[in-house]
Amino acid sequence: MSTSFHAYAASSPHAALEPFSFDPGELRPEEVEIQVSHCGICHSDLSMLDNEWGWSAYPFVPGHEAVGTVVALGEDAKGLKIGQRVGVGWFAHSCLSCNECLSGDHHRCASGQGTMVGRHGGFADRLRVQWTWARPLPDALDLAKAGPLFCGGITVFSPLLQHNLSSSARVGVIGIGGLGHMALQFANKWGCEVHAFSTSDSKEAEAHQLGAHYVHNTRRDGELKKIAASLDLIISTINVPMDIPGLLETLAPKGVLHVVGAVLEPMPIPAFGLMLGQKSIAGSGGGSPTAVDRMLAFCARHSIAPVTETFPMSKVNDALEHLRDGKARYRIVLANDYD
Ligand code: NAP
Ligand code: ZN
Repeated sequence: MSTSFHAYAASSPHAALEPFSFDPGELRPEEVEIQVSHCGICHSDLSMLDNEWGWSAYPFVPGHEAVGTVVALGEDAKGLKIGQRVGVGWFAHSCLSCNECLSGDHHRCASGQGTMVGRHGGFADRLRVQWTWARPLPDALDLAKAGPLFCGGITVFSPLLQHNLSSSARVGVIGIGGLGHMALQFANKWGCEVHAFSTSDSKEAEAHQLGAHYVHNTRRDGELKKIAASLDLIISTINVPMDIPGLLETLAPKGVLHVVGAVLEPMPIPAFGLMLGQKSIAGSGGGSPTAVDRMLAFCARHSIAPVTETFPMSKVNDALEHLRDGKARYRIVLANDYD
């Protein structure tokens, strides 16, 4: 039986999205089909739409922060039920047999597939992914707000796990956008002293509400020097070059500058900035399925939710422009209005 998914696609880089239908074919044994109720918009959707990273394929259907309910299960799909609320992030498939998958690090699977890389993403009424990557949503989380947790959220939660962050640590977050505003909430509830680094004075009060104990405007000279040798972890979410030597000086001994923002330019790293104080620079993309589950439970326990602005999915181009203009406060969510 043929079926049709209704989505929004761009036919070329920078193009406006237009209604687009496609036949997804037979449901594969390991896949689940999700009726998408909402999908967040990540800055990576814009980067992929514009082919900034050089691996976009067109027609391109963005969307990798999708939530909804399971409407079909392949015969080998495990652990999920029809009608269950789930979320999907950057990843849609991993091999389940390599060293990384068998170690629980499915997000590092070399043959893994992205939800909108070579596949059609979540700006659609339906989405299919391997069961591994459709993670159950705890009852306490609101479907209308939870989508952004599945990419933006896990991307900034994962570094807290990776570095075994102590609750007495001092944490800096650079860029208070979609990712950064969730990082402030996570680090605060983790128990840490939280420093927000922003270029926008207008975000200062909200950064405090989100959990920052201190807010530093990085456009102001001398801001970094005030907190020299104090931070244990800095998570950078910006996609523009940063003052790496200055940031390394803000780290305490053994501190880590953790990069998750997709800066295209190579980073200038002074060897002495690392050697003196035994500091390091790290990076990561997304997180494992179990890390996602831990993050969701953490959000449910601490009443953490993304701060969202909702657009109907049919207004997706307005929503993308709002993000492109730097106006999103702090994550845009598309609500499906296809009938
Ligand atoms: P976003 O919502 O647009 O936020 C980015 C923030 O960066 C802005 O809110 C702004 O914060 C700051 N910024 C923007 N332009 C700047 C400039 N010229 N100079 C300094 N700061 C600037 O984006 P997002 O969705 O959070 O994504 C952030 C980055 O992470 C993107 O590159 C995205 O592709 C990447 N990403 C990576 C992963 C991963 O797995 N590693 C996952 C998701 C996203 P202030 O106003 O506070 O300065
Ligand atoms: Zn993303």
